[in-house]
Amino acid sequence: AQQRYATIRKEPALTLCGQRIALHMNAGLMADLPSLESSGAEGVGLFRTELQFLIRSKVPKRSEVAALYARVMDAADGRRVVFRTLDIGSDKVLSYMKRQDEPNPALGWRAIRVGLDRPGVLRMQLQALIRAANGRPLSVMFPFVAQLDEFRTARDHLMREIDREGRLGRALPEKLEIGAMLETPSMAFSPRQFYEEADFISIGGNDLKQFFFAADRENERVRRRYDTLNVSFLSFLEQIVKRCEDTGTHLSFCGEDAGRPVEALCFAAIGLRCLSMRPASIGPVKHMLRRSNLAEARAVIDTARASGAQSVRPAIIDWLRRRD
Ligand code: PEP
Ligand code: MG
Repeated sequence: AQQRYATIRKEPALTLCGQRIALHMNAGLMADLPSLESSGAEGVGLFRTELQFLIRSKVPKRSEVAALYARVMDAADGRRVVFRTLDIGSDKVLSYMKRQDEPNPALGWRAIRVGLDRPGVLRMQLQALIRAANGRPLSVMFPFVAQLDEFRTARDHLMREIDREGRLGRALPEKLEIGAMLETPSMAFSPRQFYEEADFISIGGNDLKQFFFAADRENERVRRRYDTLNVSFLSFLEQIVKRCEDTGTHLSFCGEDAGRPVEALCFAAIGLRCLSMRPASIGPVKHMLRRSNLAEARAVIDTARASGAQSVRPAIIDWLRRRD
Protein backbone atom coordinates (compact mmCIF):
# COMPACT_ATOMS: atom_id res chain seq x y z
CA ALA A 1 0.00 0.00 0.00
CA GLN A 2 2.84 2.42 0.88
CA GLN A 3 4.21 1.97 -2.62
CA ARG A 4 0.81 2.61 -4.16
CA TYR A 5 0.61 5.90 -2.28
CA ALA A 6 4.14 6.84 -3.32
CA THR A 7 3.24 6.54 -6.99
CA ILE A 8 0.37 9.04 -6.61
CA ARG A 9 2.29 11.38 -4.31
CA LYS A 10 2.73 14.04 -6.97
CA GLU A 11 -0.68 13.44 -8.57
CA PRO A 12 -3.66 15.62 -7.66
CA ALA A 13 -6.64 14.24 -5.74
CA LEU A 14 -8.79 14.24 -8.86
CA THR A 15 -11.99 12.22 -8.67
CA LEU A 16 -13.32 10.09 -11.53
CA CYS A 17 -15.90 12.80 -12.21
CA GLY A 18 -13.14 15.39 -12.60
CA GLN A 19 -13.48 17.19 -9.27
CA ARG A 20 -10.26 18.33 -7.67
CA ILE A 21 -10.04 18.07 -3.89
CA ALA A 22 -7.23 19.99 -2.19
CA LEU A 23 -5.42 17.90 0.42
CA HIS A 24 -3.44 19.75 3.06
CA MET A 25 -1.69 18.53 6.17
CA ASN A 26 -1.99 19.36 9.85
CA ALA A 27 1.21 20.23 11.71
CA GLY A 28 2.38 21.80 14.93
CA LEU A 29 6.15 21.49 15.16
CA MET A 30 9.11 22.08 12.90
CA ALA A 31 9.64 18.30 12.86
CA ASP A 32 6.37 17.92 10.93
CA LEU A 33 7.48 20.05 8.00
CA PRO A 34 9.52 17.44 6.08
CA SER A 35 6.20 15.59 5.68
CA LEU A 36 5.05 18.33 3.35
CA GLU A 37 7.37 16.87 0.68
CA SER A 38 6.96 13.21 1.53
CA SER A 39 3.17 13.24 1.83
CA GLY A 40 2.45 15.30 -1.26
CA ALA A 41 0.31 17.77 0.75
CA GLU A 42 -0.43 21.06 -1.02
CA GLY A 43 0.15 23.10 2.11
CA VAL A 44 -0.42 23.19 5.84
CA GLY A 45 -4.16 23.57 6.42
CA LEU A 46 -3.77 23.75 10.18
CA PHE A 47 -0.64 24.70 12.10
CA ARG A 48 -1.40 24.19 15.79
CA THR A 49 0.71 26.94 17.38
CA GLU A 50 -0.04 25.81 20.92
CA LEU A 51 2.40 22.88 20.63
CA GLN A 52 5.38 25.21 20.96
CA PHE A 53 3.82 26.56 24.15
CA LEU A 54 2.88 23.11 25.48
CA ILE A 55 6.35 21.58 25.28
CA ARG A 56 7.97 24.36 27.31
CA SER A 57 8.14 25.25 30.95
CA LYS A 58 7.47 28.95 30.41
CA VAL A 59 5.92 31.24 27.81
CA PRO A 60 8.28 31.41 24.82
CA LYS A 61 9.65 34.84 23.89
CA ARG A 62 8.28 36.69 20.90
CA SER A 63 11.60 36.27 19.09
CA GLU A 64 11.47 32.48 19.60
CA VAL A 65 7.89 32.34 18.43
CA ALA A 66 8.67 34.43 15.35
CA ALA A 67 11.71 32.26 14.60
CA LEU A 68 9.60 29.11 14.54
CA TYR A 69 6.97 30.66 12.24
CA ALA A 70 9.65 31.96 9.88
CA ARG A 71 11.26 28.51 9.68
CA VAL A 72 7.87 26.94 9.00
CA MET A 73 7.19 29.41 6.18
CA ASP A 74 10.70 28.85 4.81
CA ALA A 75 10.16 25.10 4.79
CA ALA A 76 6.74 25.50 3.16
CA ASP A 77 8.52 27.38 0.39
CA GLY A 78 5.56 29.41 -0.82
CA ARG A 79 2.89 26.81 -0.06
CA ARG A 80 0.03 28.06 2.07
CA VAL A 81 0.37 27.64 5.84
CA VAL A 82 -2.65 28.40 8.01
CA PHE A 83 -1.46 29.45 11.46
CA ARG A 84 -4.05 28.91 14.13
CA THR A 85 -3.59 31.21 17.11
CA LEU A 86 -3.22 29.62 20.55
CA ASP A 87 -5.82 27.02 21.36
CA ILE A 88 -5.22 26.33 25.03
CA GLY A 89 -7.56 25.30 27.78
CA SER A 90 -9.81 22.24 27.65
CA ASP A 91 -7.56 19.25 26.81
CA LYS A 92 -4.49 21.49 26.27
CA VAL A 93 -3.20 22.76 29.59
CA LEU A 94 -0.05 24.88 29.97
CA SER A 95 1.93 23.83 33.03
CA TYR A 96 2.91 27.46 33.72
CA MET A 97 -0.57 28.91 33.39
CA LYS A 98 -2.58 29.21 36.55
CA ARG A 99 -4.96 26.28 36.41
CA GLN A 100 -8.54 27.28 36.14
CA ASP A 101 -10.64 25.00 38.22
CA GLU A 102 -13.43 24.37 35.79
CA PRO A 103 -16.02 21.62 36.03
CA ASN A 104 -16.36 21.45 32.22
CA PRO A 105 -13.09 22.60 30.65
CA ALA A 106 -14.21 21.78 27.10
CA LEU A 107 -17.01 24.29 27.60
CA GLY A 108 -14.86 26.63 29.59
CA TRP A 109 -12.27 29.35 29.30
CA ARG A 110 -10.30 28.20 26.30
CA ALA A 111 -8.85 29.17 22.94
CA ILE A 112 -9.97 32.57 21.62
CA ARG A 113 -11.92 33.21 24.82
CA VAL A 114 -8.60 33.37 26.68
CA GLY A 115 -7.03 35.36 23.84
CA LEU A 116 -9.76 38.00 23.92
CA ASP A 117 -9.93 38.29 27.71
CA ARG A 118 -6.14 38.44 28.16
CA PRO A 119 -4.91 39.71 24.81
CA GLY A 120 -1.23 40.02 25.78
CA VAL A 121 -0.14 36.64 24.47
CA LEU A 122 -2.47 36.84 21.46
CA ARG A 123 -0.98 40.16 20.43
CA MET A 124 2.55 38.87 20.93
CA GLN A 125 1.70 35.95 18.70
CA LEU A 126 0.19 38.17 16.01
CA GLN A 127 3.29 40.38 16.04
CA ALA A 128 5.46 37.27 15.71
CA LEU A 129 3.41 36.10 12.72
CA ILE A 130 3.69 39.45 10.94
CA ARG A 131 7.44 39.60 11.56
CA ALA A 132 7.95 36.00 10.49
CA ALA A 133 6.03 36.59 7.26
CA ASN A 134 8.28 39.57 6.57
CA GLY A 135 6.30 40.59 3.50
CA ARG A 136 5.23 37.08 2.47
CA PRO A 137 1.53 36.07 2.35
CA LEU A 138 0.07 35.30 5.77
CA SER A 139 -2.95 33.22 6.80
CA VAL A 140 -4.19 33.52 10.37
CA MET A 141 -7.03 31.48 11.82
CA PHE A 142 -8.80 32.01 15.14
CA PRO A 143 -9.90 28.91 17.07
CA PHE A 144 -13.19 28.27 18.76
CA VAL A 145 -15.06 31.33 17.59
CA ALA A 146 -18.62 30.95 18.90
CA GLN A 147 -20.21 34.23 17.86
CA LEU A 148 -19.58 36.91 15.27
CA ASP A 149 -18.20 39.57 17.61
CA GLU A 150 -15.46 37.20 18.78
CA PHE A 151 -14.25 36.90 15.22
CA ARG A 152 -14.46 40.66 14.71
CA THR A 153 -12.61 41.48 17.91
CA ALA A 154 -9.85 38.98 17.15
CA ARG A 155 -9.56 40.41 13.65
CA ASP A 156 -9.37 43.94 15.10
CA HIS A 157 -6.42 42.83 17.24
CA LEU A 158 -4.68 41.56 14.14
CA MET A 159 -5.38 44.74 12.18
CA ARG A 160 -4.09 46.86 15.06
CA GLU A 161 -0.85 44.88 15.07
CA ILE A 162 -0.58 45.25 11.30
CA ASP A 163 -0.89 49.03 11.71
CA ARG A 164 1.62 49.08 14.50
CA GLU A 165 4.19 46.95 12.68
CA GLY A 166 3.70 49.15 9.60
CA ARG A 167 4.36 52.27 11.62
CA LEU A 168 7.53 50.64 12.94
CA GLY A 169 8.61 50.33 9.33
CA ARG A 170 8.36 46.55 9.07
CA ALA A 171 7.40 44.74 5.87
CA LEU A 172 3.72 43.85 5.91
CA PRO A 173 2.25 40.66 4.42
CA GLU A 174 1.77 41.00 0.69
CA LYS A 175 -1.52 39.14 1.17
CA LEU A 176 -3.38 38.65 4.44
CA GLU A 177 -6.10 36.06 4.95
CA ILE A 178 -8.06 36.06 8.20
CA GLY A 179 -10.17 33.02 8.95
CA ALA A 180 -12.00 31.23 11.70
CA MET A 181 -12.47 27.69 12.82
CA LEU A 182 -16.04 26.53 12.91
CA GLU A 183 -16.13 24.33 16.02
CA THR A 184 -19.39 25.23 17.70
CA PRO A 185 -22.83 24.59 16.17
CA SER A 186 -23.68 28.26 16.81
CA MET A 187 -21.55 29.36 13.87
CA ALA A 188 -23.53 27.26 11.42
CA PHE A 189 -26.43 29.58 12.24
CA SER A 190 -24.46 32.81 12.61
CA PRO A 191 -25.39 36.01 10.78
CA ARG A 192 -24.42 35.92 7.12
CA GLN A 193 -21.82 38.59 7.89
CA PHE A 194 -19.62 35.97 9.53
CA TYR A 195 -19.39 34.05 6.27
CA GLU A 196 -18.87 37.24 4.29
CA GLU A 197 -16.21 38.70 6.55
CA ALA A 198 -14.14 35.58 7.11
CA ASP A 199 -11.67 35.05 4.28
CA PHE A 200 -11.88 31.34 4.97
CA ILE A 201 -13.51 28.94 7.39
CA SER A 202 -12.18 25.61 8.57
CA ILE A 203 -14.45 23.09 10.22
CA GLY A 204 -12.82 21.73 13.38
CA GLY A 205 -14.67 18.46 13.22
CA ASN A 206 -13.24 17.08 16.47
CA ASP A 207 -14.80 19.82 18.52
CA LEU A 208 -17.81 20.41 16.29
CA LYS A 209 -18.83 16.76 16.54
CA GLN A 210 -18.32 16.71 20.31
CA PHE A 211 -20.70 19.65 20.71
CA PHE A 212 -23.16 18.47 18.09
CA PHE A 213 -23.73 15.14 19.83
CA ALA A 214 -22.95 16.41 23.34
CA ALA A 215 -20.35 13.63 23.60
CA ASP A 216 -16.93 14.36 25.14
CA ARG A 217 -14.17 13.67 22.59
CA GLU A 218 -11.88 12.60 25.47
CA ASN A 219 -14.31 10.19 27.09
CA GLU A 220 -13.72 6.61 25.95
CA ARG A 221 -17.23 5.59 26.88
CA VAL A 222 -18.91 7.99 24.51
CA ARG A 223 -16.39 9.25 22.01
CA ARG A 224 -17.06 6.58 19.43
CA ARG A 225 -20.74 6.30 20.17
CA TYR A 226 -21.91 8.61 17.40
CA ASP A 227 -20.86 8.07 13.83
CA THR A 228 -19.46 11.03 11.91
CA LEU A 229 -21.50 9.71 8.99
CA ASN A 230 -24.67 9.97 11.06
CA VAL A 231 -27.28 11.57 8.78
CA SER A 232 -27.90 14.46 11.18
CA PHE A 233 -24.26 15.42 11.32
CA LEU A 234 -23.79 15.04 7.58
CA SER A 235 -26.82 17.22 6.86
CA PHE A 236 -25.50 19.76 9.33
CA LEU A 237 -22.14 19.86 7.55
CA GLU A 238 -23.94 20.20 4.26
CA GLN A 239 -25.69 23.36 5.48
CA ILE A 240 -22.31 24.86 6.31
CA VAL A 241 -21.06 23.95 2.82
CA LYS A 242 -24.14 25.67 1.32
CA ARG A 243 -23.65 28.85 3.32
CA CYS A 244 -20.03 29.03 2.23
CA GLU A 245 -21.02 28.44 -1.39
CA ASP A 246 -23.61 31.23 -1.15
CA THR A 247 -21.05 33.71 0.13
CA GLY A 248 -18.09 32.41 -1.86
CA THR A 249 -16.17 31.65 1.34
CA HIS A 250 -13.30 29.19 1.14
CA LEU A 251 -14.14 26.19 3.31
CA SER A 252 -12.00 23.33 4.54
CA PHE A 253 -12.36 20.55 7.09
CA CYS A 254 -9.40 19.96 9.40
CA GLY A 255 -10.61 17.53 12.08
CA GLU A 256 -9.30 13.96 12.33
CA ASP A 257 -12.18 12.62 10.26
CA ALA A 258 -10.82 14.32 7.14
CA GLY A 259 -8.01 11.74 7.21
CA ARG A 260 -10.34 8.74 7.11
CA PRO A 261 -10.90 7.68 3.49
CA VAL A 262 -14.61 6.80 3.79
CA GLU A 263 -15.38 9.98 5.71
CA ALA A 264 -13.28 12.06 3.29
CA LEU A 265 -15.22 10.60 0.37
CA CYS A 266 -18.55 11.49 1.98
CA PHE A 267 -17.33 15.01 2.79
CA ALA A 268 -16.33 15.50 -0.85
CA ALA A 269 -19.68 14.07 -1.96
CA ILE A 270 -21.57 16.72 0.04
CA GLY A 271 -19.43 19.48 -1.42
CA LEU A 272 -16.26 19.93 0.62
CA ARG A 273 -13.34 20.75 -1.66
CA CYS A 274 -10.47 21.09 0.80
CA LEU A 275 -9.42 18.67 3.54
CA SER A 276 -6.56 18.93 6.01
CA MET A 277 -5.26 15.88 7.83
CA ARG A 278 -2.24 14.20 9.39
CA PRO A 279 0.41 13.61 6.71
CA ALA A 280 0.13 9.80 6.77
CA SER A 281 -3.52 10.05 5.74
CA ILE A 282 -2.93 11.98 2.53
CA GLY A 283 -2.01 8.89 0.48
CA PRO A 284 -4.97 6.73 1.55
CA VAL A 285 -7.46 9.61 1.16
CA LYS A 286 -6.09 10.55 -2.25
CA HIS A 287 -6.25 6.92 -3.37
CA MET A 288 -9.91 6.72 -2.33
CA LEU A 289 -10.85 9.99 -4.04
CA ARG A 290 -9.06 9.13 -7.27
CA ARG A 291 -11.17 6.04 -7.78
CA SER A 292 -14.47 7.59 -6.81
CA ASN A 293 -17.28 9.32 -8.63
CA LEU A 294 -18.75 11.91 -6.27
CA ALA A 295 -22.16 12.00 -7.93
CA GLU A 296 -22.47 8.24 -7.41
CA ALA A 297 -21.37 8.53 -3.77
CA ARG A 298 -23.82 11.39 -3.35
CA ALA A 299 -26.67 9.26 -4.75
CA VAL A 300 -25.83 6.48 -2.27
CA ILE A 301 -25.85 9.03 0.58
CA ASP A 302 -29.18 10.52 -0.52
CA THR A 303 -30.82 7.11 -0.85
CA ALA A 304 -29.61 6.12 2.61
CA ARG A 305 -30.89 9.40 4.07
CA ALA A 306 -34.28 8.99 2.41
CA SER A 307 -34.57 5.45 3.75
CA GLY A 308 -34.37 6.65 7.34
CA ALA A 309 -30.94 5.16 8.00
CA GLN A 310 -29.18 6.50 11.09
CA SER A 311 -25.81 6.60 9.39
CA VAL A 312 -24.91 6.49 5.72
CA ARG A 313 -21.89 4.33 6.52
CA PRO A 314 -23.41 0.89 5.90
CA ALA A 315 -24.72 1.98 2.50
CA ILE A 316 -21.42 3.58 1.47
CA ILE A 317 -19.39 0.57 2.64
CA ASP A 318 -21.71 -1.75 0.77
CA TRP A 319 -21.42 0.39 -2.37
CA LEU A 320 -17.60 0.47 -2.11
CA ARG A 321 -17.49 -3.33 -1.67
CA ARG A 322 -19.59 -3.93 -4.74
CA ARG A 323 -17.66 -1.35 -6.70
CA ASP A 324 -14.10 -2.47 -5.94
C1 PEP B 1 -10.81 20.24 15.78
O1 PEP B 1 -11.39 20.58 16.81
O2 PEP B 1 -11.32 19.51 14.90
C2 PEP B 1 -9.44 20.70 15.51
C3 PEP B 1 -8.86 20.51 14.35
O3 PEP B 1 -8.76 21.30 16.53
P1 PEP B 1 -8.16 20.50 17.78
O4 PEP B 1 -8.25 19.04 17.46
O5 PEP B 1 -6.77 21.00 17.92
O6 PEP B 1 -9.09 20.93 18.86
MG1 MG C 1 -10.66 22.14 18.11
